[in-house]
Amino acid sequence: MWNKVNSLYGKISAIFLLLLLVIGAVQVRVFLQTSMEFAAEADQKLNHDLARDLAKHFEPFLADSLDEVGIGHSFHDLMVMNPRVELYLLDETGGLLAYFADPVKIKRMAVSIAPIKAFLQADDNAPMPIYGDDPRSPDKRKPFSVTPVLIGGKQHGYLYVILGGEEYDSVSAMLKNSYIVKTSASILGWVFAGALLAGLLLFFLLTRRLRSMTDTVDQFARGDYQQRITVGSSDELGQLGRSFNQMADALVESIASIKMNDALRRELVANVSHDLRTPLASIQGYLETIFIKKEDLDEERRQQFLDIIYQNTTMLNRLVGELFELSKLDAKQSEPEIEPFSLAELVQDTVMEFRPLAEEHGIEIKAEYSQDLPLVRGDIGMIARVLTNLIENALHYTEQGTVTVLLAGTPSSVEIRVQDTGRGIPREDQPHIFNRFYRVEKGRSSAPGGTGLGLAIAQKIAQAHNSEIYVESLVDQGTTFRFALDTH
Ligand code: ADP
Repeated sequence: MWNKVNSLYGKISAIFLLLLLVIGAVQVRVFLQTSMEFAAEADQKLNHDLARDLAKHFEPFLADSLDEVGIGHSFHDLMVMNPRVELYLLDETGGLLAYFADPVKIKRMAVSIAPIKAFLQADDNAPMPIYGDDPRSPDKRKPFSVTPVLIGGKQHGYLYVILGGEEYDSVSAMLKNSYIVKTSASILGWVFAGALLAGLLLFFLLTRRLRSMTDTVDQFARGDYQQRITVGSSDELGQLGRSFNQMADALVESIASIKMNDALRRELVANVSHDLRTPLASIQGYLETIFIKKEDLDEERRQQFLDIIYQNTTMLNRLVGELFELSKLDAKQSEPEIEPFSLAELVQDTVMEFRPLAEEHGIEIKAEYSQDLPLVRGDIGMIARVLTNLIENALHYTEQGTVTVLLAGTPSSVEIRVQDTGRGIPREDQPHIFNRFYRVEKGRSSAPGGTGLGLAIAQKIAQAHNSEIYVESLVDQGTTFRFALDTH
């Protein structure tokens, strides 16, 4: 990962450097070109009339005929006085008539006449510089000044003055000669060096954030789920960091819930096998006794054993049935079929059903509600199941006393309370009683009747109705379970 980011830094830096070099080169080139053009223009404008002024010196040598020696000396004197100019006497077509220079240095014996004509015709607004051929070079062109002269009174020619001389020969000569150009070039150099440094530093800092992010992601991937990216900005990297952190949170949550589900599943399997094994072992034991003893067993004992076997099979049947019910609720296979119904009627019927059993145990059971309760919306079968579970428990955990089912309505909901005056549930057990297989008295688990699933099923059904069952209880005083159903 480090290498990748590092090479990303390398790539960005290389591209930046290349761009800077290209821009720098173009900039320098344009700058030098314009400097030279500017210098040439200034030179040509300033020295526009130089050739005409100088021509006056040569008139004596041109009056009758061309005095080459005289002109040569004169050229020499002038060029010594002003080494920046080179003088040439040209004929009408641009051919060299006289000059002062080592003949070896002269590379062409004629210059093109077009720039000369252009110079002579140019007015004040004409674009300058106009470049003319430099006789000292086979191909170079330089700013010049020129004026027509008359040789021997009849032959037309030109006094041609190359300005700047060798000063314009090369950029390096230009750099050497101009302080401004030199200073500007060095400033430009520093600016580029500064930009390069700043750019490299910036990219380093940017990629450093990326590096630290990849480190964090790496550690997370290796299993350190506490790792989070420190988000210090709202730019794209900041957003990336934030998104990763959110993803990490979601992942950690999912892992925790998977672990919890796994633990629950193990516990469930353990509980189920335990709760199945106990009644099965009991059935097997009694059946074996009946088989072995055969006729030795008197009728009363045999009946007693058969009763126990019957109770255990009932218990098994109920356990398997409830497990199946719970798993369907878990998998959302049994969704409630919502319809309006009267809770009062349901409560009345259920209480009636349980009255014989209650009386058998010396418990009074009653329903209390007002007649004008609104209809509620829910799955009547499922709600009946909740009521049955709660009333069964109330009867089961009450020795002698009263079980009351109360209904209290508001326009938007009706609350159901199942109250008993039984043994109550200790405070520390109350948060757990809705967990599957949880029982307050663990030792009682093998006793037939209780599966530890009744409240779990009731709570699931309530939740499927967007409701929740709450418990309030005091030990030895009684317990109240309550939940509410919406009226619309
Ligand atoms: P069980 O089949 O054991 O009754 P439940 O899920 O219905 O399983 O209830 C879980 C536990 O909650 C019970 O074992 C019991 O200890 C406690 N409990 C439930 N209802 C009452 C009640 N009305 N009074 C006292 N304890 C209760």
